[in-house]
Amino acid sequence: MAEPFVFHFRPDSSGHPEQMYIHDVLCGCGVCGHPQIQRFYHSTSFHSFDLYSLLRIASTAHEVADYVCENCGEQVGAKDVQRAVVRFAFADDAGEIVLFMRDFGVIDGPVICAQLFEQRRLDPQVQPVFEPDQAVKVLEEQDLTDDLVVERLGRYFSLKQALYELYCDWEDMDDPEDAFFVEKLAEGMWVVLGDDYENVLSDALNERELEEARKEDVVWLELLKTPAPELPFYEDTAHKLPGQWRRWMPVSTRETLEQGECAIWFGVSLSIIRESFERALEVARLQPVVDEDASVDLKSLVYEDIMTPRDEPMGQQLSLLDVAYRAVWTGISPGDAAQLSAEELVGMLLKVWHA
Ligand SMILES: [Zn+2]
Repeated sequence: MAEPFVFHFRPDSSGHPEQMYIHDVLCGCGVCGHPQIQRFYHSTSFHSFDLYSLLRIASTAHEVADYVCENCGEQVGAKDVQRAVVRFAFADDAGEIVLFMRDFGVIDGPVICAQLFEQRRLDPQVQPVFEPDQAVKVLEEQDLTDDLVVERLGRYFSLKQALYELYCDWEDMDDPEDAFFVEKLAEGMWVVLGDDYENVLSDALNERELEEARKEDVVWLELLKTPAPELPFYEDTAHKLPGQWRRWMPVSTRETLEQGECAIWFGVSLSIIRESFERALEVARLQPVVDEDASVDLKSLVYEDIMTPRDEPMGQQLSLLDVAYRAVWTGISPGDAAQLSAEELVGMLLKVWHA
């Protein structure tokens, strides 16, 4: 059976992306005890989503239960929930975080534990399971931290948050000359953040931590000089692209950048973008049209059109660099940017994405 196309994102009422998660509750009817499972496909704002938001969803997971018992007709609700599970997976395939909740309605409740699964995708057809997988380490709520997500899944939960924390570390330094930080943010994305002096990038690229980022398919972009991406779904990205850095960054941080005191450079892997984007289109049975002469150099690779499953052109263009600009402009991983851009195209075709 062909792999089904799964949307990780959906637009909210203003056309801003929300990210999907799966929410299961196991209830026992308060009158007859009849057990029943309810499943929800929920979504939450993509650009501001972080680990704290996920834990907040988990801690109120029982509140969604609401149905009439199929055995006795009694109304079942939050008070009847015995177990709840929330499953969230990163759109760039870094992995899945599954949260298991029990002991609702008690002081200090609910009890939350979690499991992390590397490189696992969100599967809407997975059977509801209310007990952790015995073969995988179970984490207590307090052990599920941003650092652990980085260690186990190879990416920051929120790249924007990681970037801002790095900025604060730079700002807190006691003014040494020509100082910078380097960090891997996600698969195929690195950042150099520091004093804005002429050789900051070349100095940073000598650091051992950036060895991987010296490859030919990695393009280095300075945040302040990166142009607005041109994307099929947005007519005016400079003003309307959700999640862009000039909107989410605190004013003082933005000013420090614009006054040339601090520089932020991103290294973005174009092969990861290409791989993720083409894979997503393939699963959706869309066929990108590439100028073969240009396809050797990833920096000039342009998808000149996208063919629908009926072999009709969509009349949409997109370049790999524009997807890289999107990742940089909005502080998201290259895989997320590629998947989101592909889903917008699929969504436009199915008329579920419209501004
Ligand atoms: Zn009942």
